[in-house]
Amino acid sequence: MNKQQEFVMRTVEERDVHFIRLWFTDVLGQLKSVAIAPAELESAFEEGLGFDGSAVEGLTRVSEDDMIAKPDPATFQILPWRGGPQGTARMFCDVLTPEGSPSLGDPRYVLKRTLGKAKEKGFTFYTHPEIEFYLFEKQDDFSVPPTPIDQGSYFDHVPRSPGMDFRRATVNLLEQMGISVEYSHHEAGPGQNEIDLRYADALATADNIMTFRTVVKEISLERGISASFMPKPMTDQPGSGMHTHMSLFEGDENAFYEAGQEFNMSQTARQFAAGILYHAAEITAVCDQYVNSYKRLWGGAEAPSYICWGHNNRSALLRIPQYKPGKGNSSRMEYRALDPVANPYLAYSLLLASGLDGIDKKMELGDPTSDDVWELTDAERQAMGIQPLPDSLDTALKVMEKSDFVADVLGEHVFEYFLRNKRQEWNEYRLQVTPYELKKYLPRL
Ligand code: GLN
Ligand code: MG
Ligand code: MG
Ligand code: MG
Repeated sequence: MNKQQEFVMRTVEERDVHFIRLWFTDVLGQLKSVAIAPAELESAFEEGLGFDGSAVEGLTRVSEDDMIAKPDPATFQILPWRGGPQGTARMFCDVLTPEGSPSLGDPRYVLKRTLGKAKEKGFTFYTHPEIEFYLFEKQDDFSVPPTPIDQGSYFDHVPRSPGMDFRRATVNLLEQMGISVEYSHHEAGPGQNEIDLRYADALATADNIMTFRTVVKEISLERGISASFMPKPMTDQPGSGMHTHMSLFEGDENAFYEAGQEFNMSQTARQFAAGILYHAAEITAVCDQYVNSYKRLWGGAEAPSYICWGHNNRSALLRIPQYKPGKGNSSRMEYRALDPVANPYLAYSLLLASGLDGIDKKMELGDPTSDDVWELTDAERQAMGIQPLPDSLDTALKVMEKSDFVADVLGEHVFEYFLRNKRQEWNEYRLQVTPYELKKYLPRL
């Protein structure tokens, strides 16, 4: 047993932990969990824990249904909401085949593989997500619109709002689990909140996002309110995004910064950004994976609809704040299409791979857009070479289906499973007669 595993064994004993939850994530980004007793821990470290992979979305075909979850001791944390005596802890797992090789359907492995490619080139990939979500009154009838818990707006200080208390409780729990939070505030929509996690390497960030979603759900259950990461829960209010700030480091140096270049942006930064814009359309289905995601992307309210970049342009898909001398290490770019229900392992894999492809192929970055791209006419956008993002899950899937790049990054297994699952979702959706249609047509037609 290695040092980290020994540390976990010791902590479990000293802290009187009675349940150890093994966590992993399915292809669609749902957290899976199985609890083991402390007595099973040693064998879980050595051999992993067997489970039926065919019952997990996207993991295996039926013919090879035995899979193994192997806990990663570096991710051990006690769950504070299950603390006290006889507490519960968790570890994220790698999913392995019975032969002990990584499962091709494990999103965490997909990200590890992509991070490995960055490492071969000497890069570490850091991310910092801004996670938005709504707080609604508890609701049982989902055929009516939700009721936000307050009427606050961007950065509003809403005294005695359950929202403020909610953010505080979330931040406290996350900090107890070793997840640092940078900012938290009321967002633009009524009952909408944002919590920003501190920079970490992308694998840790993806794990942290999975933990974050769980913590928010736990706190909402405890408080009898309903928290939702749904990308666009209300037609007339802003959607919830998960803008992600990205940077590449070479050792201790931020590889995006180079003093004296235009905007102090290095060649690496320009090529990385160019790669993201080049692959933007084909990776959208994964970054925005639900029918509802496209209502956010095309619903205005600072969600991006067009493939372009800008410095301070909040209508751009990729926002690259000016890099400042003396602050070289905080140089980054913000990808704004991602929403908070994407599978973070897969989305970060595709973003990183897109940027690296830009570097490999020495792609050229065009000029920044300073205009509000929504205000331009189609003809103006065309003249500037600005393409739209896919406008529906259907369009996004059609672009993804043709992409050798996405197939290569995700691996055939995840690629095919994802497309099959999402095509089914679209086919189900397109047959629905919606409340909108009833209201609009029934009285007149
Ligand atoms: N809610 C907006 C979105 O969906 C973002 C608003 C903001 O953070 N500026 O992307
Ligand atoms: Mg923000
Ligand atoms: Mg925001
Ligand atoms: Mg932002």
